[in-house]
Amino acid sequence: MNKIRDFHRESIENREEFWRREAERIHWDAPFDRVLDDSRPPFARWFVGGRTNLCYNAVDRWLPLYADRPALVWVSTEVDQERVYTRRQLYDEVNAVAAMLRGLGVGRGDRVLLYMPMVPEAVFAMLACARLGAVHSVVFGGFASVNLAQRIDDAAPKVVMSADGGSRAGKVQAYKPLLDKALDLCARPPEAVVILDRGLAPFEPVAGRDLDYAQLRRKHAGQEVPITWVESSEPSYVLYTSGTTGRPKGVQRDTGGYAVALAASMEYVFGGKPGDTYFCTSDIGWVVGHSYIVYGPLIGGQTSILYEGTPVRPDAGILWRLAEKHRAQVMFSSPTAVRVLKKFDTAFMRERDLSSLERLFLAGEPLDEPTARWLSEGLGKPVIDNYWQTESGWPILSAQPGVEHTPARLGSPSFPTYGYDVRVVSETTGEDLPAGQKGVVAIVPPLPPGAMSTIWGDDRRFVQTYFTSIPGRQYYSTFDWGRVDEDGYWFILGRTDDVINVAGHRLGTREIEESISTHAGVAECAVVGVADELKGQVATAFVVLKQAAQAQDADAARALEGDIMRVVEQQLGAVARPARIRFVGALPKTRSGKVLRRAIVAVCEKRDPGDLTTIEDPTALEQIKESLQ
Ligand code: ATP
Ligand code: MG
Repeated sequence: MNKIRDFHRESIENREEFWRREAERIHWDAPFDRVLDDSRPPFARWFVGGRTNLCYNAVDRWLPLYADRPALVWVSTEVDQERVYTRRQLYDEVNAVAAMLRGLGVGRGDRVLLYMPMVPEAVFAMLACARLGAVHSVVFGGFASVNLAQRIDDAAPKVVMSADGGSRAGKVQAYKPLLDKALDLCARPPEAVVILDRGLAPFEPVAGRDLDYAQLRRKHAGQEVPITWVESSEPSYVLYTSGTTGRPKGVQRDTGGYAVALAASMEYVFGGKPGDTYFCTSDIGWVVGHSYIVYGPLIGGQTSILYEGTPVRPDAGILWRLAEKHRAQVMFSSPTAVRVLKKFDTAFMRERDLSSLERLFLAGEPLDEPTARWLSEGLGKPVIDNYWQTESGWPILSAQPGVEHTPARLGSPSFPTYGYDVRVVSETTGEDLPAGQKGVVAIVPPLPPGAMSTIWGDDRRFVQTYFTSIPGRQYYSTFDWGRVDEDGYWFILGRTDDVINVAGHRLGTREIEESISTHAGVAECAVVGVADELKGQVATAFVVLKQAAQAQDADAARALEGDIMRVVEQQLGAVARPARIRFVGALPKTRSGKVLRRAIVAVCEKRDPGDLTTIEDPTALEQIKESLQ
């Protein structure tokens, strides 16, 4: 592990030299004067004075080499369609959309909000905005009117692009009524709305406001829109965090730093090269989708697969069939998505020819050991856990096979990524903690290229939110707990607000969850601390079983509860044993698949669960309620 350590050290100690070299990976219309301006900490500006463009680097730059090679492969198991766009076709489509947006008055610095399903037109629109120097803000297509209205008001877009609807697990979801309602709720509605009519959900266009995508495309087909070169620090997009812990924050990303960071990560983190195929199952509404469905693979000269569908339809083999068919080298997914597959036989992957596939990356939440083991054994390929945030834009902790092959350690996202000066610090003194000790994962500024530059329209909130919680130091707090072992492997131990205090003992709910997950019958679980008169707080566990029938009657449930408690007691000690275990059919999660612990706690404590606008399935919270009776 010497190489990876040296590489990381180099990136911190010779920061400017390191990134000056990496910056050569992308095209600059005009060179930068300075690699880094951090004269106003904690703000950092990368590649100051350089002029570049994300769309140019993703599309135009690869045209001479890969004009006829697939750039974007769209597969929808929802509407049974597949479309392949070569780089040339991608160029044409992006230009048509750029022309239509330009025609609607969109220019440099203007915002365009995209409320779109997983269709290629959404990708065209993102790239078209970048081409024009406009700032896109993609709002996850499953969000309801209130979420959407909040984001429209915050980003104040000139144009909104949307669709009649999406489809999820075979059920049509009409977007247009949600959009109309959101625009009614808005303080500052946009001037124009462009609707892609997929023929899924009939709607009435609003006269004078709503425009038809297909019609505009026809009008602008064949037009070429010149690149608007922007200064490296000009914003490329605003993306709101998941809202797991509170009001979503509008993460603002720059242009040059982001392009360089992604280009470098394609090689170092993902071990890829131009011409490869990359299959990321995330959604364009999340940061993983921005970085590794759209910009990363395209800037890296790769083919990207855009998938509209779930991992289990038409059956649990669909992801692996797509990887086989399109000869993907890299797959990227989330623990939530693959955990669903664990209920099915590994034959679904073993029967496929996955010889092209080199690795599977997972990010977004803790990857429990049983899931990691199940996957790597079924696939016979390395499964790489990587840790990051909407804020960071690309992995903070990860194995980096493009730098050095290192053995994986189950439960660990391996090592800090080059450029990130990550520390485990004491929450009370702010000092670095030695190996083995648990503390807050913090980053010493400057944040590297590609990480957020500020909160949209609110520099103060940026500093306040992220840089004031570590005592005595102006460090960026990730608000996650972590620990480094003797060999330098990092472990994420849950969020700093997920600590519970049982009779004076501080326990991370994540650790208890990990332990429960090792029980063979458990598919997934959530542990929360619930106020208790006697002990301060007690841990309550909500468990989803692989086979629900196992807890069918009260006796079976009690026996299983005893079993699981024994597992936790053996692994973590009696103090960590949950006071109660309840079996439920599903856990309440955000749309991005993160467990909504604050809502569970509220329900347990008979309080109002608060803002539930980001919840995926409200009935899951009902189940929690019922399980407590
Ligand atoms: P908000 O900040 O609005 O509450 P959020 O933190 O859920 O929302 P994201 O930026 O999507 O929004 O999620 C980042 C968080 O996800 C991390 O801070 C961490 O808690 C968790 N996470 C991501 N990857 C991993 C991983 N590999 N292991 C453990 N936790 C992870
Ligand atoms: Mg967060």
